[in-house]
Amino acid sequence: MKMRKVVVFYTGGTIGMEKNSAGVIAPSPNKLLEKLRTNTQTHHKDAVNEYKIPTASDQLVLLFENSIILYKIMEYTPLLDSSNVAQKEWIQMAEDIGKSYEDFDGFVILHGTDTLAYTASALSFMLQNIQKPVVITGSQISIFETRNDAYNNIVTSIILAACYPIKEVCVCFNNELLRGSRTAKVSSTRFNAFASPNYPHLAHIGSKITLNECYIRTPKQNCFVLNANLCRGVEVVTIAPMITAEGLRGLLRNDVKGAVLRTYGSGNICSDRREIVDILIEAVKRETLIVNITQCINGGVTSDYETGAILKDIGIIPGYDMTVEAAYTKLSYVLALPLSYTERVKLMKINICGELTNEHSTTN
Ligand code: ASP
Repeated sequence: MKMRKVVVFYTGGTIGMEKNSAGVIAPSPNKLLEKLRTNTQTHHKDAVNEYKIPTASDQLVLLFENSIILYKIMEYTPLLDSSNVAQKEWIQMAEDIGKSYEDFDGFVILHGTDTLAYTASALSFMLQNIQKPVVITGSQISIFETRNDAYNNIVTSIILAACYPIKEVCVCFNNELLRGSRTAKVSSTRFNAFASPNYPHLAHIGSKITLNECYIRTPKQNCFVLNANLCRGVEVVTIAPMITAEGLRGLLRNDVKGAVLRTYGSGNICSDRREIVDILIEAVKRETLIVNITQCINGGVTSDYETGAILKDIGIIPGYDMTVEAAYTKLSYVLALPLSYTERVKLMKINICGELTNEHSTTN
């Protein structure tokens, strides 16, 4: 039997929530570890004696195929609903992985589903050339409910992090394994809450787990680099038929360093609205990094239409088939690098961690 070690960072989310005295669902601290310890699916108690496994009080054991998986729960304080997770927590998660990098074979993050795709994207940029699996999961129903999706998501994520040669940040949910920087939340109720609209799944997870190896990332270099700097000044701007010049000017105000411009279809805007185009031109002149991303769940931006080509002409950066979450966190990452505006524009267009297909292709 091979011994594998995993650390599970428990950051919050429905997965461990309960109804509080006000009758609303909220984080419930210091309870998950015991819940996992007392369930035979998440802790193989008998194996501890059988294999004489030295376990600390925060460690649990799973047997899987020819591996003994020793996993440790690190609970964050406070536990957060992921709607309250942002830059500060992304940095904490990235740094925690950095600190324990040498001691574990893989990393699992238990996270609320609401902003899980943002965290998965942010960590994909921050953990450059990671050589070990980082698997992010959560659940739609709490582990404290009789019927839930928490156990399967936790167990499958731990097994993937312990035993599979994955060198990237990914999301495991409802027996699907998705690239972190390609993931979007697509349902607030279905167990199948996440999708990877522009990139294939990384594994087939059924009675057997088979990685789709050709889609798993091979890092460009073999040394892991942690980049814990992010820029806060990024906005998301949605083009809609009745958009006003005042509203757009407010979103693209002087102190904003970067923006995701969510456009129609294959990257089109209301190009006849001169005042809207002029505000975009002024923002580009101020060297605001603006990236064009489609509002469609699937596909990407092109310059095929007159209403879209204008954006490229005025210096808006094509975001190709990136998700909004990937474009938003990539801007935050790129804007924190010590680069010129021109270098940043170049970096936004190239693939850093598998987040975009390539410069001119929008389909897979
Ligand atoms: N509001 C919760 C959260 O994102 C939802 C969930 O976890 O499913 O933390």
